[in-house]
Amino acid sequence: MSEPSVFTRILRGEIPSEIVAETDNAFAIRDIAPQAPVHLLVIPKTEKYRDVVELAAGDPALLAEVVGLANSLAAEHAGGDFRLVFNTGPDAGQTVFHVHAHVLGGGLTEGRLG
Ligand code: 5GP
Repeated sequence: MSEPSVFTRILRGEIPSEIVAETDNAFAIRDIAPQAPVHLLVIPKTEKYRDVVELAAGDPALLAEVVGLANSLAAEHAGGDFRLVFNTGPDAGQTVFHVHAHVLGGGLTEGRLG
């Protein structure tokens, strides 16, 4: 078995990070290095899928759950509108290979996520 991802370790409470929202199969935290006034990560609890392409192919209902949680969080924290970014592959900036959605809102900024 490979090492658990940083997000699995957060979910288990092994690395401190407040869980800001949770559904049956996904959870959300604040990004440790925010690229926008509101920058949350929505993460499936399973680390079975390394990126959004695998997730869409393997469990489209879970992808829909991630998008739904992102929408709820944006309504609560960012005034409704938001950008949803899935970095896919190292050349696109993905550094954690446990699929996650960046939820960016509260005003557009130029940064690592464009
Ligand atoms: P990626 O680069 O894979 O698209 O996104 C990974 C994100 O996870 C980065 O934006 C990074 O700042 C965030 N991140 C990495 N380690 C931690 C951590 O320990 N806690 C939190 N809250 N975010 C993290």
